[in-house]
Amino acid sequence: MMIVMRDGSSDEQVQAVIDKLHEVGAEAHLSRGEFKTIIGAIGDRERISLIPFEALNGVDSVVPIMKPYKLVSREFQQEYSVVKVGPTEFGGESFVVIAGPCAVESEEQMVATAKAARAAGAGMLRGGAFKPRTSPYSFQGMGEEGLKLLALAREETGLPVVTEVVDVRHVELVASYADMLQIGARNMQNFLLLAEVGMQEKPVMLKRGLSNTIEEMLMAAEYVVRGGNAGVILCERGIRTFETATRNTLDLSCIPLVKELSHLPIIVDPSHATGKHELIAPLSKGALAVGADGIMIEIHPDPRAALCDGPQSLRLEEYALLMDELRSLAPALGRKM
Ligand code: PEP
Ligand code: MN
Repeated sequence: MMIVMRDGSSDEQVQAVIDKLHEVGAEAHLSRGEFKTIIGAIGDRERISLIPFEALNGVDSVVPIMKPYKLVSREFQQEYSVVKVGPTEFGGESFVVIAGPCAVESEEQMVATAKAARAAGAGMLRGGAFKPRTSPYSFQGMGEEGLKLLALAREETGLPVVTEVVDVRHVELVASYADMLQIGARNMQNFLLLAEVGMQEKPVMLKRGLSNTIEEMLMAAEYVVRGGNAGVILCERGIRTFETATRNTLDLSCIPLVKELSHLPIIVDPSHATGKHELIAPLSKGALAVGADGIMIEIHPDPRAALCDGPQSLRLEEYALLMDELRSLAPALGRKM
């Protein structure tokens, strides 16, 4: 539940409520907004309900949170969260484009891609160093060498970088190079990994699982935020349906729905959603139109030679063209780019 404090309540009054919650073994999550101070109480419902909140000084009202996810819900926080990654902001007016190859392959590939990404206006660079592949015989990524090349590409361009962490044992290593940690679709419900990234400071991009509901995605985000890391960005990347013409089925309805349910930013990954380079431009425009906070797309200097996901990667010129189109559309939709 949420304990809403009166306007002008003192720090001591807020602390008294927090102390009461701790006494019954509950967690207190303080949100001091511009207008309202709210304390989210998370723990055993029955024990919390024994506290006579309304009799405590400074308390205005007590409101139950009906959804199973609490901290990430808009019941808990009405205003949308803005997640900062270096100079780039997700969840504000700007529509952010994250671009880069599926996998880091070489210095030449990474630096060329990063420069093209930057030149056309991307806000962030992507590239996988640890790749979660269906086949153990497929290219698994360059590992730490790949992380070093990402850091080099950041130095060359100033773009912050996001890369996937697939295992709890790699969290510290990946966080020492990356500006944002990606939790891939296959790990969306790896609860130990979620708790681990929840305990460190770098923002997290959480991708929707292949067969997960919106509620399950928000519950997964709750694990990260509950750990103390409020910097979470969600990513719709297509879900499994009976349709086989595309790699997955992009659930664009998820975007406005998540905007109602959660204050977290959400972006779209049309590359993994479709598996087809020719569908990236129309679905990127669709993502902008339905109110996504950005997109993440795969681009490559020579998609035919890519070690991973070439068929869904845009050539650098195609990407630059798409960026021009998005830039001309954005103002009509009240967005900046
Ligand atoms: C990726 O973005 O590199 C990736 C592997 O995507 P997903 O986890 O959505 O399949
Ligand atoms: Mn990929």
